[in-house]
Amino acid sequence: MVQKEIRKLTLAINATILIMVFALLGFFMMCRARFLIWFSIPTAAVYIIGFILISKNKLNIYVRMVYGWLTLYMSIATVCLGYGFGFHFYSMSMIPIIFYTEYMAFRLNTKSINTAIYSAMVIVAYLASTGYSVYAKPVYETDLRIAGAFWVFNSLAVLGLVIFYSRLMINMITDSEKELSERANKDRLTHLYNRHYMMERLKEAYEDDKPCGIAMIDIDNFKSINDRYGHSAGDEVLRRVAKTIENTCKDSVVSRWGGEEFLILTGDDSGLIEKLRKAVEDLTIEFENKEIKVTLTAGFEPKNKELTLDKWIVSADEKLYRGKNSGKNRVVT
Ligand code: GH3
Ligand code: MG
Ligand code: MG
Repeated sequence: MVQKEIRKLTLAINATILIMVFALLGFFMMCRARFLIWFSIPTAAVYIIGFILISKNKLNIYVRMVYGWLTLYMSIATVCLGYGFGFHFYSMSMIPIIFYTEYMAFRLNTKSINTAIYSAMVIVAYLASTGYSVYAKPVYETDLRIAGAFWVFNSLAVLGLVIFYSRLMINMITDSEKELSERANKDRLTHLYNRHYMMERLKEAYEDDKPCGIAMIDIDNFKSINDRYGHSAGDEVLRRVAKTIENTCKDSVVSRWGGEEFLILTGDDSGLIEKLRKAVEDLTIEFENKEIKVTLTAGFEPKNKELTLDKWIVSADEKLYRGKNSGKNRVVT
């Protein structure tokens, strides 16, 4: 989520709370709950100031002010009306919101609120207001049915908030884990898997009983492509060849093994690699109005348990170099 979206969300939340403050004010007037009526004035002021703070991008001050005031508001409502209204439930939803704020501060690289202090404040306010309300009568007597309706509404609102924030946190964590593992396992230029990831897959495939094979691939005369067309053209060739490998070898694991070398983990038949060689030969790469042609040489080695994993790779590499020495643009099996 970018800063702009967070601001929009915060504005929406602030507006919702302000509307609720006025709705509650109407209710307090109905019950003649004098103190709560007067208390609505500073409360409304807090959220109006909130709009100013959000528009000036002072989210840090905003959250501190709102968390403090919300805690005070729910405690006072609980003391005045009794715990039967369920205003104290809001403290349960405050905790995930407080920690969510810390996470957002981390993501936005801004100063975080002190989660311990705010959590402690919520706990103390909860215990004090519900404790008072259990032993003393509420300040204002109200109809039990009204209390019941509030209890249902407040319970649902709190449960909804807890579910919403838990979902939000889990989505953010899984998204960020996915992004991190992409970065750790993939090559930036070609978006193919990198050597580190491929090595793990090779270990698995080596231990597995399923027959398979590897192809070590190297682009022919790549240095001269860089020399003739420039390094950016070379990069574009790598991207296009990578795409061609991916499109041709759909059920295989494809990696960028090194500079212009690729390693493919595929079935035990080299036919697919021959098809790939042909596809790259037929490929014309356009770059800055120039047409670039490339070929590749491959060494194919089926899995053979008489070889160690390292020897399996070395053997494919040796076949590749045999291909290079015997004219390039071929698959040696
Ligand atoms: P051969 O047919 O024998 O493989 O010849 P070659 O020129 O392809 O082989 P060599 O290994 O001598 O050259 C590979 C070149 O690839 C050297 C290096 O500058 C270039 N290279 C490696 N990584 C990149 C890259 O990410 N981008 C670009 N543009 N060039 C790269
Ligand atoms: Mg090469
Ligand atoms: Mg090379």
